[in-house]
Amino acid sequence: MRKVSLHSILLFLLLSVASRSFGQATWSEPYEPFRIAGNLYYVGTYDLACYLITTPEGNILINTGLEGSVPMIRANVEALGFDFFNIKILLTTQAHFDHVAGMAEIKKMTGAQMMIHKNDAQVLADGGKSDFAMGGDKGTTFAPVKADRLLRDGDTVRLGEMKIVALHHPGHTKGSTSFLFDAKDKDCTWRVLIANIPTILLQTQLRGMPNYPEVGKDYKYTFEAMKKVQFDLWVASHASQFGLHENRKPGDVYNPTIFSIRSQYDDAIDTQKQAYLDRLKSQK
Ligand SMILES: [Zn+2]
Repeated sequence: MRKVSLHSILLFLLLSVASRSFGQATWSEPYEPFRIAGNLYYVGTYDLACYLITTPEGNILINTGLEGSVPMIRANVEALGFDFFNIKILLTTQAHFDHVAGMAEIKKMTGAQMMIHKNDAQVLADGGKSDFAMGGDKGTTFAPVKADRLLRDGDTVRLGEMKIVALHHPGHTKGSTSFLFDAKDKDCTWRVLIANIPTILLQTQLRGMPNYPEVGKDYKYTFEAMKKVQFDLWVASHASQFGLHENRKPGDVYNPTIFSIRSQYDDAIDTQKQAYLDRLKSQK
């Protein structure tokens, strides 16, 4: 019989809180992997978005979902015809367990280099213990990983010809990051943004947290910075945030333009900005 560990109870509680906005069940459900645009592929779960960027020099994986998502991600990568063990670089949009809990295992399996914004590196290295909102006595929420490279705003991650620019969009976590790059198609190039939509955790006190005094200011910066980003296509850390299931049905043919709706992106940011303003008022 399997013992119910403190960790799994904790994870369940965290998931319950988070599921108010995203739906816990959909986090671990499978979804068919598919080509988003050019050399960019969706390899995540039904809601936890994971992205594979392929290059002749090896591949890049952005986000892992939960610890239990790893076999699903591997199966997705292989179903698309790629070698899971050819992942050379691991990136994440934010050091929360629903996006990095599989990093330790995948790093061990592939030997890939973990790169993360410097302000999320500590949280990644202590398995979430030092997270300003979800850490503390609750202990680790995922297997820790020590980063190989620390990123700053505007830094470029390179693999062969591929260049990915890291955009620091803090608030949700201190080191939350969006990624901007060109996905190369047969006869065109798509400028793609993998956006970390700045949602606000229930625990976040916008007037400052002991371990994150500037959280409110960071959100304000992020709303402005994100509205200025120019792109052809956009996706996000959660499928629900970019309307994957409204815009695409399993089995649909390849069509990058379903991810081109700028107004959906602006609405997603504006919704969070309004939530921020409402929260500020209520936390006076
Ligand atoms: Zn999160």
